[in-house]
Amino acid sequence: MHNVAMNIPFVDLKTQYERLKPQINARIDQVLEHGAYVMGPEIAELERQLSEYCNVKHAIACSSGTDALLLGLMAYDIGPGDAVFTTSFTYFATAEAIALLGATPIFVDIDKSTFNIDPERLEEAIQRARQSGKLKLRGILPVNLFGLPADYHRIDPIAKEHDLFVLEDAAQSFGATCGNRVSGSLGDISATSFFPAKPLGCYGDGGAVFTDDDVLAEKILSLRIHGMGQDKYDNARIGLNARMDSIQAAILLAKLEIFDDELEKRKVIAGIYHQCLKDLVGTPYIPYGMSSAWAQFSVLSDHREDMIEALAEKGIPVQVYYRIPCHLSKAFAYLGYKSGDLPITERVSSRIFSLPMHPYLDFEIATTTTSVFHDLLLKKSGESYRAQLKAGNDHS
Ligand SMILES: *Cc1c(COP(=O)(O)O)cnc(C)c1O
Repeated sequence: MHNVAMNIPFVDLKTQYERLKPQINARIDQVLEHGAYVMGPEIAELERQLSEYCNVKHAIACSSGTDALLLGLMAYDIGPGDAVFTTSFTYFATAEAIALLGATPIFVDIDKSTFNIDPERLEEAIQRARQSGKLKLRGILPVNLFGLPADYHRIDPIAKEHDLFVLEDAAQSFGATCGNRVSGSLGDISATSFFPAKPLGCYGDGGAVFTDDDVLAEKILSLRIHGMGQDKYDNARIGLNARMDSIQAAILLAKLEIFDDELEKRKVIAGIYHQCLKDLVGTPYIPYGMSSAWAQFSVLSDHREDMIEALAEKGIPVQVYYRIPCHLSKAFAYLGYKSGDLPITERVSSRIFSLPMHPYLDFEIATTTTSVFHDLLLKKSGESYRAQLKAGNDHS
């Protein structure tokens, strides 16, 4: 039925640009005219809109999601001897930010349904680290993977009990909700990314840090510009060059206007994928009271590699997030984790893959994917049936 390759982009930024072209071009032209390319008026305007959107007192635009995480950790003076609890099943930048400051990431296994940090395992990891007494336990860095918030209802009391901060990695979840709170307001500090492929993306690197805490906000503002005091030539602390370009803020301002509509479109596509695929592969689970920003639609199968190959033949691109969990990466070999340490993370990373997901996706992709998976599973069950018969014959 679907013999023609579809040739679908994994993330379609071109259709979005066509929709917003006049607004985006006008916004960029304004920056070119006023000439304040760094820290221009668009930055303050964007920060105002972001803080309103997330219902957080302070939104601080910055140069990337990675720098947003760094700024958050630096606001707590994280450094050598400190431990921060996080997930191994994430983009490398999460754990990298902790390690870059000389601190130690402690990797906690994930929940098998949400793929986010498992609060029960978190509690155990805290107890274990406390007993060993080698590191100073400082904070928890949960990641809202694929757009779904981590279980903050259970993480928050654990953080309080052990006097740990919560730094929300909202790089994939801008627009998601957890109860009556919006992602960006789920941590003591929250960090998001505006990398082009994220739910809200600019045309380069960008990010933002959020907090309700006035003292932390002031420190982050200083850290963003070389630890500036009264001005950038009065340096109060060691900081970063972590500013956002005015042009990126201008682009985000144009895109924010249609962001809720795009979220809705992602939700519809996720619903269609789920209905079509739920009997063929493991589909995402969204706990009651939460909503996902649908950065990715990720599915689980024991036949991942065959499915990826069969989809590629139909022109449907797939990504694997993440084949190598952080604790087994070469970069973190020095921490001494070994295969088997985080069984759920490892099992999920061997079976998961993500289908194309963006607001402008043709619904036909869901039916094509369904028939590809269906045909493949039928073939697989035939093979295993024949193998069973053969094994039976060998015994006789
Ligand atoms: C993308 C991402 C980051 C880093 O964001 P950049 O803007 O690319 O620096 C951090 N954490 C997670 C979970 C991400 O997906």
